[in-house]
Amino acid sequence: MTAPRLEIDLKKILHNATTLVSQLGARNISVIGITKAMLGAPELANTLIAAGVSGLGDSRIENIERIRQSGITAPITLIRSPMISQSKRVVTHADASLNTEIEVIRKLSEAAKNNGLNHRVILMVELGDLREGIMPGDLESVVRKTIQLPNITLSGIGTNLACRSGVCPDYRNMVELSRLADSIESKFDIHLDFVSGGNSANMNWVADEHHPTRINNLRLGESILLGREPLYRQPIEGLHTDGITLIAEVIETNVKPKQPWGQFAQNAFGTVSPIKDSVSASKQNILQSILAIGHQDTDPTGLQMPSGVKTLGASSDHLVIETGSVAFPPGTEVPMLPNYNGLVRAMTSPFVAKFWKAAEIPKHSTDAIKATGIAKGSNRSTTPII
Ligand SMILES: *Cc1c(COP(=O)(O)O)cnc(C)c1O
Repeated sequence: MTAPRLEIDLKKILHNATTLVSQLGARNISVIGITKAMLGAPELANTLIAAGVSGLGDSRIENIERIRQSGITAPITLIRSPMISQSKRVVTHADASLNTEIEVIRKLSEAAKNNGLNHRVILMVELGDLREGIMPGDLESVVRKTIQLPNITLSGIGTNLACRSGVCPDYRNMVELSRLADSIESKFDIHLDFVSGGNSANMNWVADEHHPTRINNLRLGESILLGREPLYRQPIEGLHTDGITLIAEVIETNVKPKQPWGQFAQNAFGTVSPIKDSVSASKQNILQSILAIGHQDTDPTGLQMPSGVKTLGASSDHLVIETGSVAFPPGTEVPMLPNYNGLVRAMTSPFVAKFWKAAEIPKHSTDAIKATGIAKGSNRSTTPII
């Protein structure tokens, strides 16, 4: 079979998504299923919809357009602040976007007006992780300007933690977001449909914290795809952690010395071997194999190897492994479990084939999609949100 390849078991992903949707539903928290790690693959999008997510989200307009081209009409949110240069594409294909800049929202308003569309805006608030977000003290002023713009509906506020600095979502910052929602609603006499508390890193807060807050939405990618929470990368109970496998093929196997020899300077990636000077090969030998995959296709440090196999190093096209007492002859396929980085890069590499193991999607859920679906190109403002 062709290699390297990703094998994606949609049955396991459907199980993960269904489980999370129902657990969070019991807490009145809806789920936006995030498709960016899989480049907006329609196979994933349909699986998430079948699991009962209230909408889809992606960080890139190209992925959203791909989802639309496949005929999916479910609500889609652009989860990275839009580029002004893409505002027309954004209002045309996305129902909503997460925003932090009033200049951008003004351009979305113009583009929506020119095209007879309505666009929903969720304002992102900075709560400590120092990636995107309006400083809490500036939120009121941005809200005031946003609600005056034509063809724009302010549908909520949100935050994103644990991405740049690893700040944990906890009771304190979730309460802060809730209080901001309350104060915006009373100050402007409006209702915010969404208080979107974060991403998969919020799953620990969900598990540990049971005091009610205003948080009624999460945007989940990694936890659905890999069955893990991203703060400590622990498996989430009841979810599959092996839904996605990366398979690479052995192209060389040899008994080789464990240590390199010669004089040492930088390797291909600018790092220097810790071994200082070793003029001759050491006596200690190992069974070494090379897999035909590398930094260009995945994150070699983000792959869980089969038991007994150890990663020794990698360059752009070669991944060097030690295979213990078993020799892997050329042609052997080695299955590995990618982490999020490993997955994103493998999905993005044109050299990695993608194989989808279909899930049986119950008929009632496809009917539900049609019922909640929005005709493409229609004015989406009239459609109930999430
Ligand atoms: C990527 C992203 C998510 C999803 O994150 P996961 O950790 O994959 O659940 C949610 N919100 C925003 C703004 C993102 O950029």
